[in-house]
Amino acid sequence: MGVSASVSLAALNTLRLPATADWFAPIGNVEELQAVLSFARNRGLGVLPLGEGSNVVLSDHIPGLVLHMVNRGIQLRRDDGERVCLRVPAGENWHDLVVWCCDQGLHGLENLALIPGSVGAAPVQNIGAYGVELSERVQGVEVVNTGSGKADYLSAADCCFGYRTSLFKHAEGTDFLITAVDLVLDRRAPVHAEYPSLQAALGDVIPTHRQVMEAVMAVRRRRLPDPVIAPNVGSFFKNPVVGFDVAAALLAQHPNLPNYPAEACRVKLSAAWMIDQLGWRGKEQGGVAVSDAHSLVLVNRTATTSRAVLALAQAIYDSVLEHFGVALSMEPTILGPDGSHPQ
Ligand SMILES: Cc1cc2nc3c(=O)[nH]c(=O)nc-3n(C[C@H](O)[C@H](O)[C@H](O)COP(=O)(O)OP(=O)(O)OC[C@H]3O[C@@H](n4cnc5c(N)ncnc54)[C@H](O)[C@@H]3O)c2cc1C
Repeated sequence: MGVSASVSLAALNTLRLPATADWFAPIGNVEELQAVLSFARNRGLGVLPLGEGSNVVLSDHIPGLVLHMVNRGIQLRRDDGERVCLRVPAGENWHDLVVWCCDQGLHGLENLALIPGSVGAAPVQNIGAYGVELSERVQGVEVVNTGSGKADYLSAADCCFGYRTSLFKHAEGTDFLITAVDLVLDRRAPVHAEYPSLQAALGDVIPTHRQVMEAVMAVRRRRLPDPVIAPNVGSFFKNPVVGFDVAAALLAQHPNLPNYPAEACRVKLSAAWMIDQLGWRGKEQGGVAVSDAHSLVLVNRTATTSRAVLALAQAIYDSVLEHFGVALSMEPTILGPDGSHPQ
C-alpha cells in the first residue's frame, strides 16, 4: 500500500499553487482503495479525492489523506452494433478517452474534447462544452463510500446531474469516490455543431464527428489560455441561471447581455459579459489576473497561496453583485482550510 507522508501537490493542480498534503496515496484498484481507507479510519484521517487538479483551488496545507486514482484500462461492457457501453476507470485522462473513442468510431463525446482532467472527476461537475454535457452519455458510475469502504453502483438518475453540478458536489454525495464511469456511445450519433463558435470554425460543410472534434480543439486552443503556460482552472464562475422576471428586468437595462433559455423556464446569463462590462479583463491583483483572452478565467501569474486567488474572485463577485444584482457561483472547488467561497 503506497501511502506517503507530507507530499507536495504543486504538480497536481493546474493553478500551480504550492500545496502540501499530510498524506497522499495513488490508488490502482478498488482493493487498494479499501486498504487505504481502513488506514485512514484507523488514524482518524479525513480523505479527499484529487484527480488532475484542473478544477480545484488548493489551500497551502491539505490535512488528512489525498486519494489520487491511477486505475486504467477501458473495458467493453456491451455492443449491439450501434450502441456501445464502456466502463472507463477513474484514472484515465478525459481528453485521451475522447480521442480514443473518436478513433474507434464511437461517438457522442467530441464536443468535450480538450477538457483537462481525469475521467473520475468528469461526473462531479457534469463537464460540459459546446452544447453537450457528460450526463447525456453516462449510464452510471462505480463508487466506493469513503466512510464505510463499501463499493456501490449509482445510476445516472442517482447522480442528480445538473448544469455544472451533480450529487457529488452536495453533502449527500461527498462521501463517494468514483472509481469508474459507464458511458454509452453511439456509432451513428448525430453531430452537434450548432454552437455559434463551432459553426463559424466549420463554415458551410456538413461535418463528420472528427471534424467537430478538431474544430472544438481549434476553438479551445484559440480562446482558452493553456494552463501549462498560464496556470488556471478554466472558467472560474458559472453562468448564473435566474428566473424569467429577473432576466427581463436585467435585459431592459442591459439589452446586449447575452442570455439563453435554461431548464424550468429559467434564463442563463453570460457571466463573462458582465465581468467584461465592469472592466475586469486583464486586471491583476496579488499576482492573479483576469485572463486577457477570456474574462471568466483567472490566471495565476506569481501568487503562492489560494488566498490571493480567492481575493480576486471575491472582488469580481462583489462588483457583479453591486452592479447587476447577480450573485455569481464559483465553478472550482476549494479544497482545504481556505475553503470558503466568495459571498
Ligand atoms: C483550461 C481549462 C479548461 C476547462 N474547460 C472546461 C470545460 O469546458 N467544461 C467543464 O465542465 N470544465 C472545464 N474545466 C474544468 C475541469 O477540467 C473539469 O472540471 C475536470 O473534470 C476536472 O478534472 P480533474 O481530474 O482535474 O479534477 P480535480 O480538479 O482534481 O477535482 C475536481 C473535484 O472533483 C473531485 N474528484 C476528483 N476525482 C474524483 C473521484 N474519482 N471521485 C469523486 N470525486 C472526485 C475533487 O475532490 C474535486 O472536488 C476546465 C479546466 C481548465 C484548466
